[in-house]
Amino acid sequence: MFKKFVSIFLIAILCCSFLAACGGGGNNNQNQGQDEARSYLVGTDTTFAPFEFEDENGNHTGIDIVLLETIGEEMGFEIEWSILGFSAAVTALEAEQVEAVMAGMSITEERKLKYDFTDSYYDAAVAVAVKAGSEYTSLEDLRGKPVVAKNATTGAQYAEEVAAEYELDIIYVDESAIMYQYVESDLAEACFEDYPIVQYEIGRGTISLEVVNQSSYSFPTALAVLKGNSPELIADFNEGLAKLKANGEYRRILDSFFNPQK
Ligand code: GLN
Repeated sequence: MFKKFVSIFLIAILCCSFLAACGGGGNNNQNQGQDEARSYLVGTDTTFAPFEFEDENGNHTGIDIVLLETIGEEMGFEIEWSILGFSAAVTALEAEQVEAVMAGMSITEERKLKYDFTDSYYDAAVAVAVKAGSEYTSLEDLRGKPVVAKNATTGAQYAEEVAAEYELDIIYVDESAIMYQYVESDLAEACFEDYPIVQYEIGRGTISLEVVNQSSYSFPTALAVLKGNSPELIADFNEGLAKLKANGEYRRILDSFFNPQK
């Protein structure tokens, strides 16, 4: 009795899968392009907490990641991330290997010639940080010293602007985490980084640096696409961001990273 029941059950399952396979195939062909969610390949940075970083479970998360995915849910598109580092993400955008960059990217006049930016979702000024407890308190104190900056960033641009005046010797690296290591291990006397980023690491005790100069070199931050390439992504981002600001979700996302409930 039991055996008979099992075989009927198995035959039923087989029939169902067969029908599902046939039906499913037909449907897919019919609805192709309609059912499939729009998806964008987006380049991002590696160690740029709290905007993007690897959490204790090995997931790449952060304000940029959660914000863009939430905007996607609101507006009906999906995101595939390409974790490249800042300079590599911008290079990939220019080579059209990614469709956008979401990496705490500053809107500058120079960049606006090449990229279209969304509305800004954050402002950040470049800060100068030194090893905690060091005797440096200003750029003047750093005269003639080696400093470290991250390739192709506004931090590097600021370092280059003040380098002539203070005779700074700039070392370039590709990752924020490496930049901090240079300062901690005395390979450089100071680093140039967006204030919210370096202050966040200092606050959570992952680096022993201190900020000596919070410059007026400040920019709004936004998502970028290659000029003229994805107007619909720009429009959707702006509409989604406005919605998330209006319904409190934007604030909640920022707070979940800047002031997590312990
Ligand atoms: N905001 C800076 C810039 O756009 C740094 C971005 C980053 O390092 N991810 O240049």
